[in-house]
Amino acid sequence: MRGGVAEVAGLEVGVFAVVRAMELLTILNQCHRFPGFVYQQAVFSADRRSIEVTVRPRKGSKAVCSGCQQPAPRYDHLAERRFEFIPIWGFLVFLLYRMRRVECPRCGVRVEAVPWGDGSISSPRRT
Ligand SMILES: [Zn+2]
Repeated sequence: MRGGVAEVAGLEVGVFAVVRAMELLTILNQCHRFPGFVYQQAVFSADRRSIEVTVRPRKGSKAVCSGCQQPAPRYDHLAERRFEFIPIWGFLVFLLYRMRRVECPRCGVRVEAVPWGDGSISSPRRT
């Protein structure tokens, strides 16, 4: 008789997901700020297994050269990338960010350093 149970459950999951994504944005902005960057929006991925958070540089903030860790003028942008971040509530969290490249007076054209870290980009150590 009641055929709508599954639909209602689906709706609840949808609302839950939106609320959670908004909560996550608030939590990140309050507790996990990266100087020079802002969290723009958080959305659940299509399969609802992970949350994708769009990150943008704060207006007027300079990119930091990954070679010498000094601010440098912007050169251009790379394509948006996903960075694995800390898992929250059992969901994987990815940061989506278009890295900037800088034209560093010391190092030349380099990708910027990002505070959420990425082993392949921030100061590779070869011993
Ligand atoms: Zn540099």
